[in-house]
Amino acid sequence: MEWITHRGGCHCGRVRFEVLAPRTLEVLDCNCSICGRSGYLHLIVPAARFTLLSGQDDLTSYQFNTRTARHLFCRVCGVKSFYVPRSHPDGFSVNARCLDPGSFDDLIVRPANGKEWEKQFPETAAANPPEHLDNGELSSFALF
Ligand SMILES: [Zn+2]
Repeated sequence: MEWITHRGGCHCGRVRFEVLAPRTLEVLDCNCSICGRSGYLHLIVPAARFTLLSGQDDLTSYQFNTRTARHLFCRVCGVKSFYVPRSHPDGFSVNARCLDPGSFDDLIVRPANGKEWEKQFPETAAANPPEHLDNGELSSFALF
């Protein structure tokens, strides 16, 4: 698989990052209470494939429910361009809508039923789920 460095960030440009991922991106469209409201498209990556280039001091966080996820917003423009997801607290979810155009060919969008996360995945609701992403595949339906 060919790995590409994609760049992106928030609206005002303070928060900038780069992420190593395939050229054709598989992203998840989650229907949970927070993702559904913002139209967030998840590109889940292990921490080693994500680098924050700027904006550390401009990030503010929002937490709710289990408080595992850390929803990170730019305090100036309000855009959540990436965050630490509940399903992968050792990694990052990058918002594919916040990637700069040009580095990827296509987005393959798959639905994710984050709204019923506990019901579908009771065994992982209270604990960190296993790491699924060593081979770059998205094998988990449980996102947020
Ligand atoms: Zn901003």
